[in-house]
Amino acid sequence: MADLADSRVLLVGAGGLGSAAGQVLARAGVGHLTVADDDVVDLSNLQRQTLYREADAGQPKAPLAARRLQALAAEVGHEVEVVAREMRVLPDGARELAGRFDLVVEGGDNFATKFLVADACALAGVPVVQAGAVRWVGWALASIPGESACLRCVFEDVPSGPQDTCAAAGVIGPVVGVLGAIQGALALSLLVGRSAAAGVLHSYRGLSGQLRRSAVPRQQPCPLCRGDIEDTDVSRYLPPDCAA
Ligand SMILES: [Zn+2]
Repeated sequence: MADLADSRVLLVGAGGLGSAAGQVLARAGVGHLTVADDDVVDLSNLQRQTLYREADAGQPKAPLAARRLQALAAEVGHEVEVVAREMRVLPDGARELAGRFDLVVEGGDNFATKFLVADACALAGVPVVQAGAVRWVGWALASIPGESACLRCVFEDVPSGPQDTCAAAGVIGPVVGVLGAIQGALALSLLVGRSAAAGVLHSYRGLSGQLRRSAVPRQQPCPLCRGDIEDTDVSRYLPPDCAA
């Protein structure tokens, strides 16, 4: 069992999901967190991006998130190193980046980032916990490379055509909070060696309050699990479709 204080976790995205998951990990005493985000705080997102306040508008999220997570951890007695990376995870270097961590938590706001992070983590052999939410519904999935279902087993490929995204369709703050907290719980579970948390799709419907878990088998035709995807070439990922 890994010691949480020695664990290294990369948070991809410091929006609503990253705010919730990051707080879980910092308060639990995960010893090294790196926050990667290239966006700035937008007042319209404050209902779900709980690490920020009105006075932060226009400032880059990554350094703010790092500072707040470090302070939260300190308030409950943990010495946590939190590093800010003002960057978007791009195909070039994604696999190497993922390979520097014990686990990746992805809360990005577009499908391209989600598939890129899934591929990069599988290629680097690093477990990943991913989630997404739009309007009143969301999902979360933890994946251990070579052992359990991945994002491509569930969603196959970057969708074509216009998609509902959090920026275009909106998303309800508490729905993001629930999914981010589940991501945090799944991440802690994997870090302490509970692999049963992986390969289960958690879905939450905020309007009805329905929370479901369904075991997802590794799909035979999944190109990532079958080993057909050998790099993170830019051609595999459509441009990000949600900027906020
Ligand atoms: Zn797969």
